Amino acid sequence: MAEGLLIVNEAACEAVVTRGAAFAAVESTFAAMATGEAWNFPVVREALGHADALYGFKSGFDRAGMALGVKSGGYWPGNAAKGLTNHQSTVFLFDPDTGQLAALVGGNYLTAIRTAAASSVSIAHLARPDAKVIGMVGAGHQSAFQLRAALEQRDFEKVVAWNPHPDMLPRLQAVAEEAGLPFEGVEREELGAQADVIITITSAFEPLLMRDWIKPGTHLACMGTDTKGKQEVDPAILTAATVFTDEVAQSITIGEAQHAVGHGLMGEGDITPIGAVINGTHPGRTSEAEITLFDGTGVGLQDLAVAQVAAKLAEEQGKAQRIAL
Ligand code: NAD
Repeated sequence: MAEGLLIVNEAACEAVVTRGAAFAAVESTFAAMATGEAWNFPVVREALGHADALYGFKSGFDRAGMALGVKSGGYWPGNAAKGLTNHQSTVFLFDPDTGQLAALVGGNYLTAIRTAAASSVSIAHLARPDAKVIGMVGAGHQSAFQLRAALEQRDFEKVVAWNPHPDMLPRLQAVAEEAGLPFEGVEREELGAQADVIITITSAFEPLLMRDWIKPGTHLACMGTDTKGKQEVDPAILTAATVFTDEVAQSITIGEAQHAVGHGLMGEGDITPIGAVINGTHPGRTSEAEITLFDGTGVGLQDLAVAQVAAKLAEEQGKAQRIAL
């Protein structure tokens, strides 16, 4: 690694990290996690008792990709009133050979693009090849990133969407129109009836989709549940599905599977790391009628993978600053 500390700001990250590059980086780190070459360290998350903020660290080491570091940040609910994003984070990359700080990389855009890459990796590996309709549950900040990336994975012909506040749906309609696809705001039952692929990306604490509404062959990417107590789908959907995740330990504690596991409906042995499908040690989908579900909980290694891409490309393209340590 070159001498000194590289600084890559948010604008540089947005300019250099494409959806394709994020997909490749996240897919590689999921694959390395499944072989044990990459692992995440325990997550720290604390309420500060100041500014209503939640603050924490997500870190890990990918020996295959030579990424070592930490994403530090959290949630400041008062930021929006100051014209700032509520979620704030920064990635610190270290030289795995020396421990020296190698790069400081803005983490806000990267969080959205790496989360979208995770659901896209799951769609690429698990959705039916002939999937035509994509259903979006949730229309917040992440949803547009999710939809844009997902649309690149299959020849989708239509977007359907539901949100508790329908006035937020134009955000998704704009993405559909950008891709030249028809868009329809629908009720949740109708969404299940139409969609071949469903992404859930809400802050819900109760099931929004019920088992009977999901048709055979559907692939679901449940991306919103990343904390104890959150929930987006009926646990019966998980028991009906073949379940995959980024990291099993997180899936059963803070992911969507926490509820099915907590009710004794399934165990951790019923959940497969998506990296095993990427590596070819698990067949993934084995029939047209199978329901597949990806429980995307969000791991630090995803952040490190895309931050590494950002640092490399921003330096190559003259969009980063290097200072002496
Ligand atoms: P946001 O605040 O911009 O949007 C929240 C969305 O959830 C909106 O569609 C809102 O209408 C909906 N919502 C809020 N409360 C709800 C409720 N009680 N029931 C149903 N829907 C509700 O947030 P965002 O940045 O788009 O993030 C969405 C979710 O994704 C959050 O829960 C966030 O923690 C999670 N997230 C997960 C990962 C990951 O790696 N898995 C990464 C980033 C964010």
